[in-house]
Amino acid sequence: MKALTWQGKRRIGYGDVPDPRIEEPTDAIIKVTSSGICGSDLHLYEVMSPFLDSGDVLGHEVMGSSRRPARRYRG
Ligand SMILES: [Zn+2]
Repeated sequence: MKALTWQGKRRIGYGDVPDPRIEEPTDAIIKVTSSGICGSDLHLYEVMSPFLDSGDVLGHEVMGSSRRPARRYRG
């Protein structure tokens, strides 16, 4: 799949990354239909860069449809 990735302080890339996979019972895989940028993304862009590794996928404000349903959460 394609994704925006962190490449270093103030450096963002776009390219191929491994397909997502279910790792936890509460995970879901969705097909993204729209996305946005929030203030947290700006922190990752510069201030929080010590917590990122080159190639980390960015973005967390998305809407989409489920490709693989998450297993029922029993918390
Ligand atoms: Zn956010």
